[in-house]
Amino acid sequence: MQLLQDKIRDFGNVLSPTVLKVDAFLNHQIDAALMKAVGEEFAERFKDVQATKILTLESSGIAPATMLGLVLGLPVIFARKRKSLTLSGNLLSATVHSFTKNVTSEISVSRDFLQAGDQVIIIDDFLANGEAVRGLLSVVAQAEATAVGVGIVIEKGFQHGGKELRDNGVRVESLAIIDSMDTDHIRFR
Ligand code: 5GP
Repeated sequence: MQLLQDKIRDFGNVLSPTVLKVDAFLNHQIDAALMKAVGEEFAERFKDVQATKILTLESSGIAPATMLGLVLGLPVIFARKRKSLTLSGNLLSATVHSFTKNVTSEISVSRDFLQAGDQVIIIDDFLANGEAVRGLLSVVAQAEATAVGVGIVIEKGFQHGGKELRDNGVRVESLAIIDSMDTDHIRFR
């Protein structure tokens, strides 16, 4: 997606050989026009699937997932990373190790919002080693729902998550795939 690649080149900061900071348009400040285009692009990529729900992970997946939900007219659920007094009872949970924060946390979704038979599109901001997506896939499986595809805004193709998921038969649609990056240059696939 050219618009997204331009944003990454213009506003992304390579913090280390493996970490890209995109706080200017996705992870802190949100470029709503770009997110709208991202939602439309995901809808185009997944136009052949009959999804019933969209599932993401708080917080940075919410903007792109919501835009897709708006285009497709579908509910958007975000897995919670923190336990809350209002999130109790019948939960679907998985353990996810965060690549950027280097902490392991439990993600949870209420069974009220994900049912057996749901056809789910999983959305996230980044794909690195695939931990977050694997956690979301586990939540979908526990609900006896089906993951019909995974939509990623930025995949770092030099990390192993995308390859592993695709090798396991998961359909992954990434709007930008970075093959390599350093402080001077970001190369896209
Ligand atoms: P994974 O679980 O695939 O290893 O990593 C994906 C998750 O870690 C995403 O939900 C995202 O929040 C975070 N992440 C991974 N790599 C990056 C990165 O380079 N930049 C930012 N901002 N977040 C990342």
